[in-house]
Amino acid sequence: MRKIQMVDLQGQFQSIKDRVNTSINEVLDSAAFINGPEVHNFQKELEDYLGVKHVIPCANGTDALQIAMMGLGLEPGDEVITADFTFAATVEVIALLKLTPVLVDVEEDTFNIDIQALEKAITPKTKAIVPVHLFGQCANMDAIMKIAEKHNLYVIEDNAQGIGATYTAPDGSKRKSGTIGHVAATSFFPSKNLGCYGDGGAIFTNDDDLAHIIRGIVNHGMYERYHHDVVGVNSRLDSIQAVVLRAKLPLLDEYNRKRRTSARKYNAALKDVNHVVLPKMVSGCDHICDTCDCHVFHQYTLRITNGKRDALAKHLAEKDIPHGIYYPIPLHKQKAYADERYNEADFPVTNRLVQEVISLPMHTELDDEQIQYITDTIKNFLS
Ligand SMILES: *Cc1c(COP(=O)(O)O)cnc(C)c1O
Repeated sequence: MRKIQMVDLQGQFQSIKDRVNTSINEVLDSAAFINGPEVHNFQKELEDYLGVKHVIPCANGTDALQIAMMGLGLEPGDEVITADFTFAATVEVIALLKLTPVLVDVEEDTFNIDIQALEKAITPKTKAIVPVHLFGQCANMDAIMKIAEKHNLYVIEDNAQGIGATYTAPDGSKRKSGTIGHVAATSFFPSKNLGCYGDGGAIFTNDDDLAHIIRGIVNHGMYERYHHDVVGVNSRLDSIQAVVLRAKLPLLDEYNRKRRTSARKYNAALKDVNHVVLPKMVSGCDHICDTCDCHVFHQYTLRITNGKRDALAKHLAEKDIPHGIYYPIPLHKQKAYADERYNEADFPVTNRLVQEVISLPMHTELDDEQIQYITDTIKNFLS
C-alpha cells in the first residue's frame, strides 16, 4: 500500500507538470513576476468559473479577509459576528482591525454558524457577519442573508475551505460559494481545494464600487500612481502562483469530485459503526452524489461520541494513518480572543465538538486500498 498522507499534492503535480513548467519558464523569460498577464488571465478565468463580476487576487486568504473588511469601511468598535469553531485567521483579522469580534456557537451536524445564536448576538453596534463554509460545505446563506438584510449588515463569506461548492437556496436556485454575500475571501494555500505552490488568496464581489475600492487597498491605497487616497496594504498574487492556479482551475471540479468519491467510500464503510457520526449533508442531499457540489470536502470530519476520540487519534498514529483535529480549542477560549463578554453556557456545541471531531486523510489521490485500511482500523478500534 502507498504511504497514506493527510494531503497528497504530488499526484496532482504529475498531471499538470508539463504545462506548469513551460508556463513558469515563460514567466521567467518575460520577467513579469508581479501583475503580469498570468495573474490577469487567472482573475478572468476565476470570475467566469464562479459567475462573479470581480475577483481581486491578493497574497493569501488572511489578507483577503482583512482587505474585504477594510474595503467595507468597518471602523474600530464595530461588532463583527463569526463562528467560534473555525481557523483563527477569521477572527484574527477582525481583532487586528480593532473591530470587536463576537464569537457565536455552531450547529453540531454541519459545524457551521448557528443561525439562532447569530441572531441573538446582534446589537446596535453589529456591522457585519462572517460565515465560514467550514470543511467545504456552505453555511446557511439563505437565513444569513435574510438576517443581514433585516439588520442592515454586511456579509463577508470566508470561502477558504469552500471553493467550488455550490449553494442551493430553498427556492432551488444555485450559486457558487463566495458569490452570495456582499464580498468573499478565499485562500490558495497549497492544501486548499484550489491550492498554488506558495501563498495566494483572492477577494470576490459583485459590487463594482467595492471592487474598485479593494483594488486600491491591495496596492497601497493607490488609484492613480503615487497618489495614496486611503491607507492600504501590499498584497499581491505573483505570476508564478497564477500559472499554477491557471493549470489547476479547469480541474477543480474533477478534484472536488474525487474528494466526494472518497467521502462516499468513507461513509459507506463507517455508516454502521457505533459512536461514529458521519458528516451531515445539507442542501437537500442525504447522500453524497456525483453530480452535486453541495459539499467539496476540504476536510472529511467525523464525530466520535463515546469519549474515545483522543484514544482513536493515538491508535491511528500508531497505524501510520495521519489525521487532524480541526479544531482542538474553541476560539473563545484562545488566549488572544478570550473575553469576559463570553459566557460558557453560550457555547455548548463548540465546547463539545473540540472533544469529538477527527478529520481523516482527504485529497485527490486516495485509493480504495488506503480507504479500506483506514476504515477497517477505525472499525476494529471502536467495536
Ligand atoms: C486557510 C484559511 C484561512 C487563511 O488562509 P491563508 O491563505 O492561510 O491566509 C482563513 N480562513 C479559513 C477558514 C481557512 O481555512
